[in-house]
Amino acid sequence: MSGERRFGDGTRAVHAGLPPAEQGQPFLPGPTFAAPFHLRGDDVYDERYGYARYANPTWTALERAVAQLEGGDDVTALTFPSGSAAIAAVLFPLLRAGDVLVVQEDAYPTARLLASGELAALGVQVRLVPTDTAAVVAAADGAALVLVETPSNPGLDVVDVRAVAAAVRGFGGRLVVDNTLATPFGQRPLELGADVTLLSGSKHLTGHGDLLLGTIATRDETIAAAVRQWRDRAGAILGPFEAWLAHRSLATLDVRLERQTATALALATLLAARVGDDLDEVRYPGLPSDPAHAVANRQMEGFGTVLTFDPGSAERARELFDRCELVIEATSFGSIHTMAERRARWGYDEATEGLIRLSVGIEDADDLARDLTRALDATR
Ligand SMILES: *Cc1c(COP(=O)(O)O)cnc(C)c1O
Repeated sequence: MSGERRFGDGTRAVHAGLPPAEQGQPFLPGPTFAAPFHLRGDDVYDERYGYARYANPTWTALERAVAQLEGGDDVTALTFPSGSAAIAAVLFPLLRAGDVLVVQEDAYPTARLLASGELAALGVQVRLVPTDTAAVVAAADGAALVLVETPSNPGLDVVDVRAVAAAVRGFGGRLVVDNTLATPFGQRPLELGADVTLLSGSKHLTGHGDLLLGTIATRDETIAAAVRQWRDRAGAILGPFEAWLAHRSLATLDVRLERQTATALALATLLAARVGDDLDEVRYPGLPSDPAHAVANRQMEGFGTVLTFDPGSAERARELFDRCELVIEATSFGSIHTMAERRARWGYDEATEGLIRLSVGIEDADDLARDLTRALDATR
């Protein structure tokens, strides 16, 4: 199956990257554990599998799956041991001293820190911008590369990818979209005009909170070759067991997202009804009243599973975590487990002291609603 859009997302998720069915063989072959592969003769570059830093059949299947979900068999996908490794593998080979790189002020911390740290030290000029379409478009003038995370997190602001892609193309630069929060089923950056889409598969793509993964996908062969060469040389590769686990988990992406997104909207609605009473603010791009909703609605097919709310103070936020029976205090998002944290505890977001990022899992929506309501009522 090539990932053509004549099939729905649920079907595409189940079949993505699987080899043709073969008598007596599993649907998804198990992980291939190898450092060297048997490599006979002198035509070493003609063989796909010679040494496992360059390629491994378990990645090949996962990369085919990711490519199909991101847009089809004309897409090249590459996997990495974390989302941060994927970000580094795009930024380092595509930027030279003197180039301008545009990054959001509230981009994922490792992206921001790599930009203003290691890349700036190599002579890359970094322009930090707010998560705002007009600001990104203005900064794209003269930029070699624009990295946009939309929706951003924990801010949950949205950038108009079509508008930014058109501007970046006009200026002769490249647009990379971090699609971690939305996933390829929530938003298709390559269709919206991005040159590259990347994901931290540590979040929804794998969804069980048990592994780290990064992916990039592009139709641009020059970019794909540069990123692959970086991976060959820097050696930041995904282990075969993680690759296999990720591929296995991918099959349920659509059902997980469907459930999680519906519950996220229900909880956001429940929380929004308390704003002005005992909550200061609720953000979720799927709420029609949300400032990001109009643009999100134009470019997203699902609004994600992450929402934020502000119970007024750090103390009340901490007390809420103590009172919740089902919401696990943890960082990250996109897992089947409902998790939340007070973002300001890390000290590097612009989050208000009380701001809680809630990542909605696959538990029963009614149970989660009762758990949150009980904790909020007890701490108001
Ligand atoms: C988590 C995350 C990353 C980094 O991924 P790791 O797998 O933790 O390295 C990058 N971008 C976004 C938006 C993320 O949420």
